[in-house]
Amino acid sequence: MSTTKYIFVTGGVSSSLGKGIIAASLAKLLQARGYRVTIQKLDPYINVDPGTLNPYEHGECYVTDDGAETDLDLGHYERFLNVKTSQANNVTTGRIYQSVIEKERRGEFLGKTVQVIPHITNEIKERIQLLGKTGDYDIIITEIGGTVGDIESLPYIESVRQLKWEMGDDNALVIHLTLVPYLSAAGELKTKPTQHSVKTLMESGIRADILVCRTEHELSSDLRKKLALFCNVNREAVIQSIDASTIYDVPNMMLEEGLDTVTLDKLKLTDAKAPNLDRWNQFLERHKNPKSQVQIGLIGKYVELQDSYKSILESFIHAGAENEVKVIVKSIHSEYIDENNIAEKLAGLDGILVAPGFGERGIEGKVAAVRYARENNLPFFGICLGMQMAVIEYSRNVLGIKDANSLEMDANTSNPVINLMEAQKNITDKGGTMRLGSWRCDLLDGSKVREIYGTKSIDERHRHRYEYNDVYRDQLESSGMKATGINPETGLVEIIEIPTHPWFVGVQYHPEYKSTVANPHPLFIGFVKAASRYASEK
Ligand code: GLN
Repeated sequence: MSTTKYIFVTGGVSSSLGKGIIAASLAKLLQARGYRVTIQKLDPYINVDPGTLNPYEHGECYVTDDGAETDLDLGHYERFLNVKTSQANNVTTGRIYQSVIEKERRGEFLGKTVQVIPHITNEIKERIQLLGKTGDYDIIITEIGGTVGDIESLPYIESVRQLKWEMGDDNALVIHLTLVPYLSAAGELKTKPTQHSVKTLMESGIRADILVCRTEHELSSDLRKKLALFCNVNREAVIQSIDASTIYDVPNMMLEEGLDTVTLDKLKLTDAKAPNLDRWNQFLERHKNPKSQVQIGLIGKYVELQDSYKSILESFIHAGAENEVKVIVKSIHSEYIDENNIAEKLAGLDGILVAPGFGERGIEGKVAAVRYARENNLPFFGICLGMQMAVIEYSRNVLGIKDANSLEMDANTSNPVINLMEAQKNITDKGGTMRLGSWRCDLLDGSKVREIYGTKSIDERHRHRYEYNDVYRDQLESSGMKATGINPETGLVEIIEIPTHPWFVGVQYHPEYKSTVANPHPLFIGFVKAASRYASEK
């Protein structure tokens, strides 16, 4: 195939309809038919990236191998496709303007007035086509964040209009995702919001080629006909996306609706293979037919918003399926636990995961949870801040260093067992300045992680400023907390374990970013297995 084909996904009527899942599902189907596919997301907000956003605002910040702090939809793309994303896969308005303004300062537009059209739109168009130029992909799906009609998404919509005109209908198509609400008082599904949304898109010069309609009830054939007629699309291009019990069902639902065949047809792609979803369906089969169950406590401070720990929750789904176990994740707010109520809060659990995070709030609850898990042989998994809390807890309660702390929580502690990294000391900017992205880590022979990964050396993704303080390493190791993963370049301790405990592992990196349906993460698999063992021995 010579020309890269472009698919644009826009959203109408309401936000949170799941554009990311539809984009990822279509990508999965096209991949299953033999095409090389990637997905990118354009976000209309002005932050340069979501790294500076509170998880309550925007859910989890997902991190790529090359250290981009991105929208959580990129996590779905990787989990569905098992293909890595990068800086180029997520662009925000902030980044677009930053780049245009830098060019203006360098004098690249000398003599010209710099304007939204053409300068901002040209920059957007360039970014959209960046991945296409690598030659690595046959099809690129671009998700436009926001809802059509929003003031801030206008330059993106205009860029899509221009690209579609330039590329032609055989090389670019627009999928519009809308909502068909059910009015219970009338007992009817309503098409009007969709009609209006398609019209709004049309006012910007874009005709939707395919409509994907989110709905709680089946769309009748008459209703589909009506939508096709009033929205100017072919009858078979009206695709129903009914609520699913799991996002992992959506690719098969889209296959049944023919979203892949309409897409291939419109893009004149005639060399598609029959879709091979064997691995995917194997996973679904296991996910839906667990033989037993475990209860895992997720100890964090952003637990009110499920999206804050998206990748962790999805990793449990992958690892659960692998173990044929249903993993029930119970969210526990770290701010409301302490030494007095900990036994009650963690009662009935088969393992705890102490979550990543920033700042002081809820810290002591996390330390109490670690202590309980350590003393009661309850499987413990600490990620990033969770690992740091394990080091603090051990220093305080086993080494007897009562004021052991992280410099992040107490800048004046005389025992900073978690220290600010050397490279971070002179950094004042907050955005994009943490230790980010993929780093190598060597695993100690004979350790639990060495056995779990089955390899000597790993690469995992990071997002933090603080680190294990090597000054305390001898003391920690000789009293039983081993450093079992070391960065070969810097000597930084990336993994700690307590070998006398059935399963006590803390990692400075984020394994959850690399778990996919095709490749569930070994640490999550190992942790769920340990929790199952704990459950069966109770
Ligand atoms: N706040 C801690 C640090 O910066 C941990 C970060 C995290 O959990 N991602 O080191």
